[in-house]
Amino acid sequence: MDEEQLKIMRHSCAHILAAAVTELYPGVKLGVGPVVDQGFYYDVLTPTPVTEEDLVKIEEKMHEIIAKATTFDREEIGLDQAIDFFRERHQDFKVELLKDLKEKGTTKISVEELADVGDRPDTASLYRTGEFVDLCRGPHVQHAGQIGVFKLTKLAGAYWRGRDGNPQMQRIYGVAFETEQQLEEYLVMLEEAKRRDHRKLGKEMGLYTFSELVGAGLPLWTPKGTLLRNILDDFVWQMRREYGYQKVTIPHITKKDLYETSGHWEKFKDDLFRITTREGHEFVMKPMNCPHHTQIFDCEKRSYRDLPQRYAETTMVYRDEQTGELSGLTRVRSITQDDAHVFCRETQVKEEAYKIWDIIERFYAAFGFELEVRLSTHDPANMKPYLGTVEQWDGYVAELKSWLEEKGLPYRMGLGEAAFYGPKLDFMAHDSLGREWQVATIQVDRNMPERFGLHCVNEHSEDERIVMIHAAIMGSIERFLAVLIEHTAGAFPAWLAPVQVRIATVSQDFVPFAEQLGTELVAAGLRAELDDSDEKVGKKIRAAAMAKVPWTIVIGSKEAEGGDFKINVFGQDEDLVVARDQLIATLLEATQRPS
Ligand SMILES: [Zn+2]
Ligand SMILES: [Zn+2]
Repeated sequence: MDEEQLKIMRHSCAHILAAAVTELYPGVKLGVGPVVDQGFYYDVLTPTPVTEEDLVKIEEKMHEIIAKATTFDREEIGLDQAIDFFRERHQDFKVELLKDLKEKGTTKISVEELADVGDRPDTASLYRTGEFVDLCRGPHVQHAGQIGVFKLTKLAGAYWRGRDGNPQMQRIYGVAFETEQQLEEYLVMLEEAKRRDHRKLGKEMGLYTFSELVGAGLPLWTPKGTLLRNILDDFVWQMRREYGYQKVTIPHITKKDLYETSGHWEKFKDDLFRITTREGHEFVMKPMNCPHHTQIFDCEKRSYRDLPQRYAETTMVYRDEQTGELSGLTRVRSITQDDAHVFCRETQVKEEAYKIWDIIERFYAAFGFELEVRLSTHDPANMKPYLGTVEQWDGYVAELKSWLEEKGLPYRMGLGEAAFYGPKLDFMAHDSLGREWQVATIQVDRNMPERFGLHCVNEHSEDERIVMIHAAIMGSIERFLAVLIEHTAGAFPAWLAPVQVRIATVSQDFVPFAEQLGTELVAAGLRAELDDSDEKVGKKIRAAAMAKVPWTIVIGSKEAEGGDFKINVFGQDEDLVVARDQLIATLLEATQRPS
């Protein structure tokens, strides 16, 4: 089965799920049932809530339906007729979707998407599987017997259409694969992913918190979490500095005029947090930094000798994500970007892009991530979302392609995945569980300089249009940390760990010695802390392991009298034994940041 067939099979499985729920819960109102990564879900509103235990019962019913190899039969009927059909069956959500289809020509949610619809359809397609009928565009398998192996995995709450204030539904998730073995492997991975869930580990490690008073999607970073963010950011900054970047600082709000000029207003106005001043002016919280940075470039006349100008800034941006879409650190409303923009001449574009590329490779290698590149392009069949002509874009894409070929890197195409102002090289990191995450990006932009009239004065004293390169290494620090926590199961490399060394005393008698040692370690530049609680030393070591501290030094009488140190190393059975006068040198060497 190829990817497309798998999707069709998974989506068909969602129909079977809805059919089973309909049989088991008379009066159920059905939402939507799309395909997601490795599987599918269906949103349902049942008279009595579905419980985790019920999932087995639903699975059994699904097996019954599949065993009958019931066919999927398509039927095309008039929109009004379809509305009547679902209204009679009290399927209010389907009626709402059909009415949207009738009035707006789409069942999609956002206003932005509504702008792009073509002719409004006058019919709807229904799919019949046995008694069960669903509104759907298809395609599906021919009969239920073609569905592979599946399993219902979890239940979650979901607002109808993802909007806070809409009815709360239940989302039943399932996965489906071609073979039993694929399913087994996936379930093992899923168990491991659950154990590593950053929402659970991040809390145990005390890195961040959320407050009802502050609001959903707005993480608050504790001292430990902040330390971690700063160390990561500094790692990126030190590399950028080697390549001639300079730091800049911009305000977090702007007049909307800035985004009208950049084109962001047209594209993203629904995702912006807006502020009206007492004088009635409209401001917005910045959702990106590029337009602000253009104004720093443009604050004085630039000679070709001043180029490239390379601006870096790690700063928060704000996006009004829908409450239902928020999740841990992976989807938040305040996003910290390690952003940078290079303003350069056409002749400098490749060299500058390659420098960014170097930083990306060095950074991700330090964590053992494997990178894959996606060349994200325009969609020649639909140029509406993009600034510029197809011919221009074909040229832009060819340029990036030539770099990939020169470097001899395998890559895949991302049709229609470009930014509205230019194509991108998107870097996908593969984590230790084989999952893929979109992380760093290099974007070459000739539109923004055009819109803001950015130029330099060249050798012939003429104004020359410049090029802007957008570059983020971590992308969003929140998302990167979520990925890193799950990739390492919270056991960060020693150079990154917020606490590198914990000193655990065997009894209170050794606290003065331990305090003295702690002071020495901190003075040497190590992040050390003391556990001088009354707990037994075994418990202290377990607590340190829970917090994923790389080294725990146990202090008893032998150590206090000048004997060798016994260090409990996280994740290792054997203690490390180090002579007293070697301790600091050993730890410092082991906490060296990769370069
Ligand atoms: Zn369907
Ligand atoms: Zn940018």
